[in-house]
Amino acid sequence: MSNQGKTPDNIADVFRFAAGQRSMNFEVPLAAFERLADQLVSSDGVVVCQVQGFQDPERGAIIELQLAGKLVLRCQRCLTGLDWDLAVRTRLQPIRPGQALPEDELEDDEVDAFEVDGELDVHALIEDEIILALPIAPRHDECGTLRPEGAASKESPFAVLAGLRGNGSAA
Ligand SMILES: [Zn+2]
Repeated sequence: MSNQGKTPDNIADVFRFAAGQRSMNFEVPLAAFERLADQLVSSDGVVVCQVQGFQDPERGAIIELQLAGKLVLRCQRCLTGLDWDLAVRTRLQPIRPGQALPEDELEDDEVDAFEVDGELDVHALIEDEIILALPIAPRHDECGTLRPEGAASKESPFAVLAGLRGNGSAA
């Protein structure tokens, strides 16, 4: 069920997919995510995806999504590229329109319920999950890797302090 760098067709019936404990492994080029494009400095690379269906004895149909990839986000401080590892593993519970949400939905942080009449738009679901996983304000731990060499030690308060002490004892 895997193909080359293209989101597979939608899952025609997500409830049957789950009941059959089916799974799909595939890669999607970052460039294929239109809504994500604004957040990325580069759209090179792929997202490695796994969609696994299973049947939980108590909850019913469950879809587990695993996503991994290397994204280049824009640092909010210096506006240059920031390497960021995408690593999503989430469980979703499809429920039919009109069907009551599970009682424990509000208390259960591990599974998110979503309404679907059967056909699941895999591409949109994956893009939603990537956008949800993005940091709100991505920033380098330390910006300014383009600083000239030696500048860092010059700016160190300890170096400045040592210099003052040196001058003091010599006087
Ligand atoms: Zn930065």
